[in-house]
Amino acid sequence: MASRILCDIDLEGSGKRTGFLRLPHSTHESAYGWIPIPVAVIARGTGPTVLLSAGNHGDEYEGQIALGRLIREVEPGQVSGRLIILPAANFPAARAGRRVSPLDAGNLNRSFPGVADGTPTQQIAHFIDSVVLPMCDAAIDLHSGGSSLMYTPSALARRGEDTTVFERSLALLRAFGAPVSYIVRPGGLWGGTLSDACARRGIPQIGTELGGGGHATPAAIRVAERGLAGALRHLGVADLDWDGRTPRATRLVEVGGADYFLHAPDPGVFEPLVEPGAEVKAGQPAGLIHQTEVPWRAPLEVAFERDGLVLCMRWPGMTARGDCLFHLGTDVAA
Ligand code: CA
Repeated sequence: MASRILCDIDLEGSGKRTGFLRLPHSTHESAYGWIPIPVAVIARGTGPTVLLSAGNHGDEYEGQIALGRLIREVEPGQVSGRLIILPAANFPAARAGRRVSPLDAGNLNRSFPGVADGTPTQQIAHFIDSVVLPMCDAAIDLHSGGSSLMYTPSALARRGEDTTVFERSLALLRAFGAPVSYIVRPGGLWGGTLSDACARRGIPQIGTELGGGGHATPAAIRVAERGLAGALRHLGVADLDWDGRTPRATRLVEVGGADYFLHAPDPGVFEPLVEPGAEVKAGQPAGLIHQTEVPWRAPLEVAFERDGLVLCMRWPGMTARGDCLFHLGTDVAA
């Protein structure tokens, strides 16, 4: 079944065009309305087509800000090929400033390959997978930790079954040049990601985890901008001066199995004892879970299960059993 979403700009041909993906959505307030998902294309001549997306999770702002700037500042004369830009991919979630869509509780990054006549989030996933990705030679999806996590500024690639595609993703990861880069395994704790969709189609892809906490910092936005410049130059699709045209070294780590993740064993108020970017050892205390209703009771101490680099930390204090408190990465042997 074909997508129900109508793109109101032409994605073919040279030039810079902005508009909306129109997702039909009939509600009490708007019987024949559509959801306006912003889209832009900047193209000139021949060269690769690259998808740049953000707002896949609506409460992750660094990428939304950086891609907005890119749309405003980059002109077709700087491009050889085509940039297709979706700065607020799950627009209902982005408009609400929430990870998932308030319309259907849909998590876009668990919804691929999507459903043509499904919920709004499923329809967005289906449009990206079936209409946009077949045009693309590479994809960059800008995430951060969102409201519930804080990352050390990093970028990531998914290890794939196709080693040629994975090597190209890895080269893109190095060109992005985030302070830390990490490799994740496919089919781990979750599926249905845009990375999975790209892997199925043999498209090199990277993501980012720029920061988080439901806000954006100047430093995290700079990592996004410099990274985009480096990655787009590496792909030969655009030459932006946002990085001073200077490549940046990255520390390459990987995220393995369940022992890389630390979850809260009890509810309470979370006191972290380390921060993202810290080097930790197995058995080292990671945090305390406080019982603020009975503050004379000793807090529960949770410890890391292995050595590693702290990539991310839970951000809100209030914590339920099962919430992720930290996850680690370990250096990849050179
Ligand atoms: Ca995310």
